[in-house]
Amino acid sequence: MSASAANALNGFDRFGLDDTILRGVRAAGFVKPRQIQTETIPASLDGRDVLGLAQTGTGKTAAFALPMLERLLGRKANSPRALVLAPTRELATQIAEEFRTLSRHTGLNVVTIFGGVKIRSQINALRRGPDIVVGCPGRVLDLIGQRALHLNKVETLVLDEADHMFDMGFLPDIRKIMKVLPGKRQNLLFSATMPKEIRGLADEVLNNPHVVELANAAPAETIDHALYMIPEKRKLDLLEHIFNSEKCNSAIVFVRTKRRAKRLSDGLRKLDYQAFDLQGNMSQGQRDRTMRGFRERRFDILVATDIVARGIDVSNVSHVINFDVPNTPEAYTHRIGRTGRSEQEGIACTFVTGTDRAWVRATERMIGKQIPREKVEGFEPDIDRKPAATVQRRNKRPGGQKWGNSQKPSNQRRRRRRAG
Ligand code: AMP
Repeated sequence: MSASAANALNGFDRFGLDDTILRGVRAAGFVKPRQIQTETIPASLDGRDVLGLAQTGTGKTAAFALPMLERLLGRKANSPRALVLAPTRELATQIAEEFRTLSRHTGLNVVTIFGGVKIRSQINALRRGPDIVVGCPGRVLDLIGQRALHLNKVETLVLDEADHMFDMGFLPDIRKIMKVLPGKRQNLLFSATMPKEIRGLADEVLNNPHVVELANAAPAETIDHALYMIPEKRKLDLLEHIFNSEKCNSAIVFVRTKRRAKRLSDGLRKLDYQAFDLQGNMSQGQRDRTMRGFRERRFDILVATDIVARGIDVSNVSHVINFDVPNTPEAYTHRIGRTGRSEQEGIACTFVTGTDRAWVRATERMIGKQIPREKVEGFEPDIDRKPAATVQRRNKRPGGQKWGNSQKPSNQRRRRRRAG
């Protein structure tokens, strides 16, 4: 196709993908390619290595999936020809689901492998000779060790959320996996941020890559940021205030530890909110059920730790609330990327205590702007009032009022009731 003909097409047909793949694109409901897709698919189709600096939500999964499917079409091997490594089970599952949608008319098949579940069913699935394996590094290594996974036919390697894999300590595992891959292969590396360790990994893995950098991984323009100075003891009251006074469709509330996630979700349920936690102490079955429930809108509030909530894609999350600030400024970008997705509007609220000032400075430097300070009457940091009761001391209120219910008593009314 000539360049002018390609420019005239603004849909996915511009890439010259096989019709079986375009049917998958239509099944996914994609009409127009996203920027990351326009800018990486042609190079990937040519077999070039790609370095994509893009946060989740930009459409990067399809950006690597579509050219990979095109290149895999028509030939079969009895072992995987493409390997996608992702940091978490949730992300691996999400990637595999997108592959399944896009590849449904191609005859190519995908297997997902991750830890925390019995290995036997994954061994059986691998015996059926999948074309594509999507997995987390630890379990991939396990399966290689058990001789259930043979990667000597891999033609394309994808490292997704490379920065997160580094945060989780997966770099040594990734290096071990790369040793069993054929030297001649295509490599695609995606990362939302580029700390020096990932720059080093990219130099090691990629060969003269086509580099695409989306807005320096800055948070989406559609996100409104708000910073609340609040003493630790009053965070729950402020959370309730936000739930009651703003139009929330659904929210992800981030906390620092697994224990805090459980405590806060238990506490919110006692207050009649539909809230559940998602954290690393849960079994895979529990995590899957929770994720499904949240996606299907069977409950509205997900209380999560960083470890499981990065990279996941749930549409229509109106609020991300950093109940505790994240460990690093980069993690802020990842967390708030759960809202404002697919060009929809989103609100990112961050609760900040006196000890978080250095984090605020570093984060504002990173995102290149000041996060607007939000003052809420009754929640000024310096007010000398009796601290609110902690989550576990609250009693269940009668009546079973639901999230967003305007009948829910205001904080002031509840305070009065407690005082009385
Ligand atoms: P990702 O960055 O891969 O997590 O993608 C975020 C979301 O955007 C996913 O739900 C994708 O299915 C969706 N998506 C990807 N590409 C497109 C597109 N061209 N048009 C509409 N939605 C898309």
